[in-house]
Amino acid sequence: MSLRFVIIGGGPAGTQAATHAARLGAEVTLVERDIVGGAAHLWDCVPSKAMIATGDALDAVRGAEGMGLRVAPASVDLDGVRARITGITDRIEQQNRRLLESQGVRLVRGTGRLADAHTVVADTGDGEQSFPADAVMISTGSRPRIPEWAVPDGDRVLTTRDAYPPAELPERLVVVGSGVTGVEFVHMFSSLGSEVTLIVSRQQVLPAKDPEVAAVLEDDFLRRGVRLFKGARAVGLDRGADGGVVVRCDDGRVAEGSHCLLAIGSLPNSEGLGLEAAGVLMDGPWVRELDHHMRTNVPHVYVAGDVSGKLPLSSVASMQGRKIAEHVMGLHKVDHRHLDYEKAASAIFTDPEIADVGLAEADAFAEGRKVRVTKVPFASTAKALIDDDPRGFVKIVSDPATGVILGGSIVGHHAAELISVIAVAVTNGLRVSDLAESIFVHPALAEALSDAAE
Ligand SMILES: Cc1cc2nc3c(=O)[nH]c(=O)nc-3n(C[C@H](O)[C@H](O)[C@H](O)COP(=O)(O)OP(=O)(O)OC[C@H]3O[C@@H](n4cnc5c(N)ncnc54)[C@H](O)[C@@H]3O)c2cc1C
Repeated sequence: MSLRFVIIGGGPAGTQAATHAARLGAEVTLVERDIVGGAAHLWDCVPSKAMIATGDALDAVRGAEGMGLRVAPASVDLDGVRARITGITDRIEQQNRRLLESQGVRLVRGTGRLADAHTVVADTGDGEQSFPADAVMISTGSRPRIPEWAVPDGDRVLTTRDAYPPAELPERLVVVGSGVTGVEFVHMFSSLGSEVTLIVSRQQVLPAKDPEVAAVLEDDFLRRGVRLFKGARAVGLDRGADGGVVVRCDDGRVAEGSHCLLAIGSLPNSEGLGLEAAGVLMDGPWVRELDHHMRTNVPHVYVAGDVSGKLPLSSVASMQGRKIAEHVMGLHKVDHRHLDYEKAASAIFTDPEIADVGLAEADAFAEGRKVRVTKVPFASTAKALIDDDPRGFVKIVSDPATGVILGGSIVGHHAAELISVIAVAVTNGLRVSDLAESIFVHPALAEALSDAAE
């Protein structure tokens, strides 16, 4: 009999684990209460990037004169934006569904929970179905964190899930939270024409990033007229007489807007899953113990994706799902490569884009590590001038003794694509000479990578 693998939650972690385990010979059941593809496709990565792409298209039209064109002013058609996003998410769901079907995964539409350590129950709305399991994976994702001082209404006070797009384009938007999600929303809405105020609790946007990188983004925000409330923590929200919002900060400043968007992190969807009853040790909403195979203290119960509390990225969730499928099927005995979160590439879809992977220059210096850092501005490449966008740079961090590439960051057009080259180098221990001796396309922005590797 095949191994019975039951997964609760069909986001990137769940769908990747399901298809991979089925390919490897498991009998897989995937319980999903909403759409296949998860929050990543319904509310997070896909719709946010689709709206950013619309804003970028508008920016491109605004900047077209620099390319020698004369164009009429463009404006936003919110219904068109909504239809575009729905079209994309529908298509991705169909593709996911077809992939699962083609691999023979049993897809159950319902809300799943563990009845005991070896039984998953799905409430399908028409009753309950039980699925005996040799291995279980919980990949139920996360949801936006709501501060106690705000009550989202989906109209004027929005979470990230109400924004694709909202019923009306915010005339004046106050964004609370200046991490990755917050700055992407600032970029998105300012491109679409909203006046934006960003409340930044520290002294720089993207507090976890290299100050040099954050400075490039702050310059772009100031160029767009974004108001930055630095060093201010939002502590209260009132509704104005005109139906708008007034966000109060701990330093006495107030930010007024027509709408407020909350982007202050997320909480794991771990309640109601029967984890404790199945013997899984919890610390509040978080699973207490996870080994490097993503196993809980109950060895056949795995946890993956945002609910695991590890790096909350769709790409990481997928890789966790893949690794878990391999572990469940015993493949880890053949391939020992564990998931290394330090080597996960990530990107911020602003203008310019920001992407990094591996060891950051600032962290290397903070740790007192000897590294070699080479930096090449895109302005030195022909392609940046051809594209009329010479902003940004490539930075490569390497070991001065061996030349092994330890990390890198890229700020500029297509940074999210270009970082993959450095990610491959970091994951596979390539040296700067390996990059320098690769023949890249000319003219291309990637030439800055081989120049930085010289
Ligand atoms: C605004 C925003 C933008 C983002 N952009 C990016 C990006 O560009 N790139 C990137 O890599 N990451 C991005 N992320 C992060 C990314 O969305 C998450 O890391 C990713 O969705 C995590 O995948 P997951 O599989 O853990 O869960 P999810 O995608 O959250 O999926 C979980 C699934 O579980 C289902 N579920 C929950 N409970 C149950 C239950 N009891 N029974 C059945 N089903 C259940 C849910 O319906 C859902 O479909 C973004 C996040 C946000 C908030």
